Amino acid sequence: MSYTDLANTIFKDITLSAEDYLKKYPKRQLKEGAKVVRYAPSPTGFQHIGGIFTALINERLASQSDGIFYLRIEDTDQKREVAGAIEDTIKTMESFNLHFNEGVTGENTEIGNYGPYKQSERGNIYKAFAKVLVEKGLAYPCFCSAEELNATREEQTANKITPGYYGSYAKCRDLDPSVAIKRINNGEPYILRLKSPGNINNKVEFHDLIKGDISFPENNVDIVIIKSDGLPTYHFAHAIDDALMGTTDVIRGEEWLSSLPIHVQLFDVLGFDTPNYAHIPTIMKQDGGSKRKLSKRKDAESAVSYYREEGYPVTSVIEYLLNIINSTFETWREENPTLDYREFEISLDKMSKSGALFDIVKLNDVSKNVISKMKASEVYDNYLAWSKEYDTEMADLISKDKDFATAIFNIDREVPKPRKDFGKWSDVKEKIFYFFDELFNKETIENIELPKSLTIEAAKEIIKEYMPILDLNGTQEEWFAALKEKAIEMGYTADRKAFKKNPEAFKGMVSDVAGAVRSAITHRTNTPDLYAIMQILGKDKIIERFEKFINN
Ligand code: GLU
Repeated sequence: MSYTDLANTIFKDITLSAEDYLKKYPKRQLKEGAKVVRYAPSPTGFQHIGGIFTALINERLASQSDGIFYLRIEDTDQKREVAGAIEDTIKTMESFNLHFNEGVTGENTEIGNYGPYKQSERGNIYKAFAKVLVEKGLAYPCFCSAEELNATREEQTANKITPGYYGSYAKCRDLDPSVAIKRINNGEPYILRLKSPGNINNKVEFHDLIKGDISFPENNVDIVIIKSDGLPTYHFAHAIDDALMGTTDVIRGEEWLSSLPIHVQLFDVLGFDTPNYAHIPTIMKQDGGSKRKLSKRKDAESAVSYYREEGYPVTSVIEYLLNIINSTFETWREENPTLDYREFEISLDKMSKSGALFDIVKLNDVSKNVISKMKASEVYDNYLAWSKEYDTEMADLISKDKDFATAIFNIDREVPKPRKDFGKWSDVKEKIFYFFDELFNKETIENIELPKSLTIEAAKEIIKEYMPILDLNGTQEEWFAALKEKAIEMGYTADRKAFKKNPEAFKGMVSDVAGAVRSAITHRTNTPDLYAIMQILGKDKIIERFEKFINN
């Protein structure tokens, strides 16, 4: 009996051949240099920031080259599948402006001519190609039980030999087809393995688009290609899918780098051209003196939901990730403050080869920049959307009077150097609470921040004296001149040198008086422009707060 008989026994139900599929999915007609890339998650959990990072790199490269970015769902490990994960992936990607040109669009829907894009629906395709390998004697059924495989591994370990199913340890690799057919017909369970043509003494030279030139020994292990449930392993499915879907560049996490020898070999035995590969460094975190992988369990910021809950605008997260992809993004951003991030061209060869370091402080800085460039109305809309979900008290307060809230957000904004005070929407409340009596009146005396040099008594004294001359009808300069005059009259000085030289001669500086006014109105020492705050609150409200402050 021949390999063909064996192939026909194993794949008796397969009707379409590998040739048929190659015809069904013709070469894509795209412009020179266009990249066809994919995001290929397994639906085994909810989206991790590393997933956004990978998807962003793929999406940018496709978009920059007028190529194709598609979503393939790698669900061949059905035991690990988590309900709702596909929907979550799609929703998350959409929310980060990562739009797919092709692929899965919902639990049971997809677009594009190279599908199905869900591996669980491609069973017959994998079998058609596995059949060709069996016919050529390049793949074979393996009947070894888990116990037998364990025994082999133990023997290898005891003898200090690399464990694995290869060479003479691959017991089923040379079974005569007639014996294999008999065992199959007897109903013995089996899996399919590749008969590896590799020799570990041979080196493969490879150019990774991020890691650069690398070399590794050929794979000599007879890896599983089809499991006992009839579904392919990731390795086998990856090679067939990326070949048939016309992927030009496989850009994926570096945890797959060690599987590259297998993948290169599979493309070879299947007769496909090997795509370009780029292995993305893992996102790391500084933990004390050492770096470690961002952990799903320990680090809240590893989950995509964290950014939403904290209220980081999507653009902030994207721009932060662009910084990690290419450190040149930061300079580009400074030079092009108003351009959309999509105008920045990412390049893989400028990417750091080792671990990308995740830094929340840096994310905050990037985000402050992003938010500072928004118009007040945009801040209002974004903050309202966020607060409706995460802080309904604020949502109610700012919806009551949209113009009032927009005026607050407009302080020190839409000017050449806008104020960078919000890094995320959850920062906003503490920065604007004093505009709302409902929040301001909840504060107690302990919450009041004062200029360092003032006691509460001195501050009360200042407010008492200042209250009668409060006038908001003039310009900011006039207002300040009046305050200064009053301050000097009270024994404060505008002359820093004189004050330094002879502090005993003065009660303090004019800035202390302005500071007391600020504290009485806002309970904080660090706020945006005080005069702008006063204009928004209006004289009546300020007098009310002054009185309350004095009588506190
Ligand atoms: N399904 C694999 C994963 O989720 C994809 C790897 C790849 O992009 O090839 O890690």
